[in-house]
Amino acid sequence: MVDYVVTPQPRPSVAVAGETARFPVERIYCVGFNYADHAEEMRGDKPPEPPILFSKAANSLLADGAPLSYPAQTADLQYEVELVVAIGRGGAGISTVRALDHVYGYAVGNDYTRRDLQNRARAEGRPWDASKTFDGAAGIGAIHVAAMVPRLERARIWLMVNGVLRQESTLAHMIWKVPEIIAEVSTYYTLRPGDLIYTGTPAGVSPVTVGDEIVAGIEGLGTLTHRVVSAERSA
Ligand code: MN
Repeated sequence: MVDYVVTPQPRPSVAVAGETARFPVERIYCVGFNYADHAEEMRGDKPPEPPILFSKAANSLLADGAPLSYPAQTADLQYEVELVVAIGRGGAGISTVRALDHVYGYAVGNDYTRRDLQNRARAEGRPWDASKTFDGAAGIGAIHVAAMVPRLERARIWLMVNGVLRQESTLAHMIWKVPEIIAEVSTYYTLRPGDLIYTGTPAGVSPVTVGDEIVAGIEGLGTLTHRVVSAERSA
């Protein structure tokens, strides 16, 4: 029994479709520029070779239906619909051939971003952390066990703001596919059960404001809905 000098916070976790037990979250890794059309809209150029990795704090998760509190220090909050991979079995130096054996399941995610801070960080060669980690920055729907969603490779991925379609693509357009992402991440970090990997977003990102309703979806994985609220109202 460990004594703590301040109260430990609850462990972040995600609902699992069809289960009462939850998926306990360890760390959150993310892939940047994994769709050519999003690299074009962000960089006016081809994607970097290879795509890039960054991370979010595990306590930035935002469940389906929870309010998204407009974060501080930005005037340009943006959505990014993404496939999320939930790791069920850990490992380092995982081969692409074995990579899918490490997957517990998949979910719809939303990589919320303070775009103005990210653009400044990119221009000045600074870290992305402040643009990618804040309360609610990691939207995630229920995790679907991998065996229940066998045909995700070409699934439609989309996002609507206030009923208007803003992002639409298929997972076939991912530059790094799921096995390559797992293999790549596992060359930098020993993956652990409970890790999540956000796999990048297609084109169509744009700002949202207080009152907007954001609905993201991936065929086979359901939808993920958030409404943006002011920081005062959500406090
Ligand atoms: Mn992203």
